[in-house]
Amino acid sequence: MDDSKFYKPESAWKIYTSKREDAAQFAREYLNFISGCKTERETVAWVRRALENAGYGKVLAGELYFRELRGKAIFAFRRGDAPLGEGINIIAAHGDSPRLDFKQHPFVETANLVQAKTHYYGGIRKYQWLARPLALRGTIALENGSVLPVSIGDNPGDPVFCVEDLLPHLAQKQGTQKLNEAFEGEKLNIIIAHEPEIEPAEEKSKNPVKKRLLDLLFAKYGVGEEDFITAEMEAVPAGDAKFVGLDESMIGGYGQDDRICVFCGLRALLAAEKPRHSLALMIWDKEEIGSDGASGASSSFFQYCVQDLAEEAKARTSEVFLNSRAVSADVTAALDPDYQDVHEKQNAARLGYGPSFAKYTGSRGKYGASEADAEYFASLRALLNSKGIPWQAAELGKVDLGGGGTVALFLARHGIRVIDLGPALLSMHSPFELSSVADLYATWQAYKAFFED
Ligand code: MN
Ligand code: MN
Repeated sequence: MDDSKFYKPESAWKIYTSKREDAAQFAREYLNFISGCKTERETVAWVRRALENAGYGKVLAGELYFRELRGKAIFAFRRGDAPLGEGINIIAAHGDSPRLDFKQHPFVETANLVQAKTHYYGGIRKYQWLARPLALRGTIALENGSVLPVSIGDNPGDPVFCVEDLLPHLAQKQGTQKLNEAFEGEKLNIIIAHEPEIEPAEEKSKNPVKKRLLDLLFAKYGVGEEDFITAEMEAVPAGDAKFVGLDESMIGGYGQDDRICVFCGLRALLAAEKPRHSLALMIWDKEEIGSDGASGASSSFFQYCVQDLAEEAKARTSEVFLNSRAVSADVTAALDPDYQDVHEKQNAARLGYGPSFAKYTGSRGKYGASEADAEYFASLRALLNSKGIPWQAAELGKVDLGGGGTVALFLARHGIRVIDLGPALLSMHSPFELSSVADLYATWQAYKAFFED
């Protein structure tokens, strides 16, 4: 049978047969990055250091320029040969990931323990956060204006923290409940301390464990309970990302949504050769909670960055925006081997088949999507084909089964052509997300090709 006219996606493993050592090396560098960047602040700090090392600076008229917003979002710009009015090739990703945030009054002593009450950030499956080591990341701003960064749980010798879980012996009733009812947000309390203070017999403290914890916090960090009211304290999975599989073909770790795209975007920006157009890499915060907030994609920060560049170059901002092309760099769901029924298989992304385009995201009739036009999509398809870079096209899952959005619509708001393109993950939003080494490498290659186009 002549089936040459059929569309056949090709495995990235096959395409990169001769590049497997390069891909493994790239993956080792990526492991180092995601193990070290577990919050939006750490991600932005890493990106900033990499940019500074590559010669990026704060001079607006310079060839290599960056601008940071309060340590939570960052815009990097590389000037091309073409006038700015011809548009910018933009890659935008997000540096935040789902996690457990402390409440403003976190500490409660009960059952001979001190727990920190939390409010989860982003979409999580609550049971995945139980009975596993957690690390703390925090920013404690003191009244005197000084700021104290906190990082406990990932340094050698550090203790870790955890949310406890019910023993199976007493979980029979829970076993009959609906998942959403069985695991409550109010039970995601992080165990912080257990040892009571040594107290004189005559004065019994009602909260001896909390008393000792507060003494410890003051002695170690000089902070009191009130400082936690204004602090950002985030609990994230403890431990490093790892290669997964006997063949080390996958990467397992926290926060790959969307730091895998941050890493590929950053490395593409640094590696792009002789870009004709100017390039921009935008890393936003707050995507996992809807992109609101000053450091999120719906704020005007990105617009200000482009506006200032346009003014400096004596170009019209509207012209720059309307001639720009963007990739919303975010992950999608890979066909789940155990829950294949949530996917419509013909339109599901496969692990190991390269980055996946999402022409639209959203849910219930593409609601909330910024659909890419046929011409733009085809031009990127042609670009990747011309460079022999594997790609696929998929939807997140079955129609009407759920859905999700990305930052694409916030770029589209300016009239910029934009499409989602990023690797597929398994266990997305879990403390241990899974990606393919071949997809990681292919995504980097795709972003680099986009920047060089
Ligand atoms: Mn994402
Ligand atoms: Mn996400």
